[in-house]
Amino acid sequence: MKERPLRTTVIGSYPFPGWLEFAVQHLSQFGEADRSELQEDAVIAAVHDQVAAGLDVITDGEQTRLDFNLSFYGFLAGLELEAAPPRRFGPPAHDQRGKHAVIGELSAPRGLGVVDEWQRLKRLAPEGPALKASVPGPYTLSGRLLTGARYPDRYALTEALLPIVRAELEALVAAGCREITVDEPSMSCYAHREDPARFVDIFNRTVEPAAGRCRLSTHLCFGNYKGRAVGPRRYAPMFPAFLDMNVDEIHVEMASREFAEIEIIGPIAERREVAVGIIDVKSYYIETPEDVAERVRLCLRHAPADRLSFAPDCGLSQTARWAAKMKLKNLVAGVQKVREESGL
Ligand SMILES: [Zn+2]
Repeated sequence: MKERPLRTTVIGSYPFPGWLEFAVQHLSQFGEADRSELQEDAVIAAVHDQVAAGLDVITDGEQTRLDFNLSFYGFLAGLELEAAPPRRFGPPAHDQRGKHAVIGELSAPRGLGVVDEWQRLKRLAPEGPALKASVPGPYTLSGRLLTGARYPDRYALTEALLPIVRAELEALVAAGCREITVDEPSMSCYAHREDPARFVDIFNRTVEPAAGRCRLSTHLCFGNYKGRAVGPRRYAPMFPAFLDMNVDEIHVEMASREFAEIEIIGPIAERREVAVGIIDVKSYYIETPEDVAERVRLCLRHAPADRLSFAPDCGLSQTARWAAKMKLKNLVAGVQKVREESGL
């Protein structure tokens, strides 16, 4: 299903332009038509930067998930708007976001909004690059919900969200979407203390309606909210169990971890395609095309070219746009260098 070896791709998110972040802080001052104009302009900017970089696969940069009302939780019935975060000051971390209380049965009467995102992207993107949609998996989505009498633990919340995500995947495929990432970073962050086979079972039941009907991938990272990781940054606890995830491509974060456990891409490539994170989204060191080429050559020592794609470690939402632009451009230039030298 992959149209060229050493494909260059991205993980869903792209930095918000400064003006968009300003607008998000003043959203109530905008009318409904203004808000859709904002969303559309933001996607145009994200598409522009990714196309200018020369990527083989692009996304909408998740530019329209502006606030609670326009993100997944805003589409869920049975929730009460987020409680005050446990910590409001001090160094940035994930505990500066509040969790949502569940007050009724969880449902998504209008879906999760990803089909609209996908249609907007399709309308605004030029011919050429493949278009990818991203949907969070139910285990990751459950992480910001509070347990209670109705859903006593995180697995109960996950099971309640699972059919909602399944329905979104089914609708995306029906809308003509040919490439979908199901993001479950919470699974990679917590595999060390949970049963990885249980995660795989949840994952496979989630993606069942889309598996085999589009190019399906997942992104296994260790957390990047405010540029901070939350899990022990080791892949060993996930494998070999995660090789049973029913996907075409598994993405792993390697650059920020200085390519520790790079050998893991060998066994992954025997079962699936592997997308390797070779751009560090947490560092303001801008990888040069030669750095990128060297990293690609390292990967080629562990996995064959026709099974490999290259990407940043994670979405770029926590990286300044000027740096994101340079990093993507150099990612493409470095991969191209290796394609040429190896006659691909
Ligand atoms: Zn990530």
